[in-house]
Amino acid sequence: MRIVLVGPPGAGKGTQAAFLAKNLSIPHISTGDLFRANISQQTELGKLAKSYMDAGNLVPDEVTIGMAKDRMAQQDAVNGFLLDGFPRNVSQAESLDEALKVDGVKLDAVLDLEVPEDEVVKRIAGRRICRNDSAHVSHVEYKQPKAEGVCDVCGGELYQRGDDKEETVRKRLEVYHRETEPIIDHYRAQGLVVTISALGEVADVTDRAMAALQKSA
Ligand code: AMP
Repeated sequence: MRIVLVGPPGAGKGTQAAFLAKNLSIPHISTGDLFRANISQQTELGKLAKSYMDAGNLVPDEVTIGMAKDRMAQQDAVNGFLLDGFPRNVSQAESLDEALKVDGVKLDAVLDLEVPEDEVVKRIAGRRICRNDSAHVSHVEYKQPKAEGVCDVCGGELYQRGDDKEETVRKRLEVYHRETEPIIDHYRAQGLVVTISALGEVADVTDRAMAALQKSA
């Protein structure tokens, strides 16, 4: 399957993507994770991306599209993938359409995770993620780790993403509405969008997502 996951920051895309990719045996491709890996390895790409990410802005398309395409061209993604955080604007969506067309393949579904805006801000401001794996997420109120600052899953160090500070979250939401939401209409015109509520327990949202994807396949 070839799936795109969309939803505002804090909808739980990273968490759901990890479970869904595992269930469907396809790689989870997150452009945010690729940028964060470049930042921690202090690459030129990482340095460039950081300045945009810290401000809550999108990294320029010239950089992002090439990076996403390179990742999708890797062997493990030949038969399918789950894209998390890409495409994030209409121009990226058009580039993706074009690249898939060249390969003679199509997307199967665009899964839209819906969550109210005030919930998003609460979720993100208290979110702490693990340095080893950004799908290992804890929360200072809703999902406290057993030992402070230590990931329950793997023992890694928990930290707050630089762009999870409240003022940056507001900016990211504004960017989401302006730049990313229009891709939902772009894909709706292709009959690909399935919308589910991202509220409730993580496992319930995964079940809802699996059911919606099976129906759309
Ligand atoms: P995420 O982990 O998906 O929330 O992404 C974190 C940040 O990385 C975003 O706020 C953007 O600054 C940047 N980013 C991730 N994916 C993209 C993309 N497809 N296009 C542009 N910027 C991106």
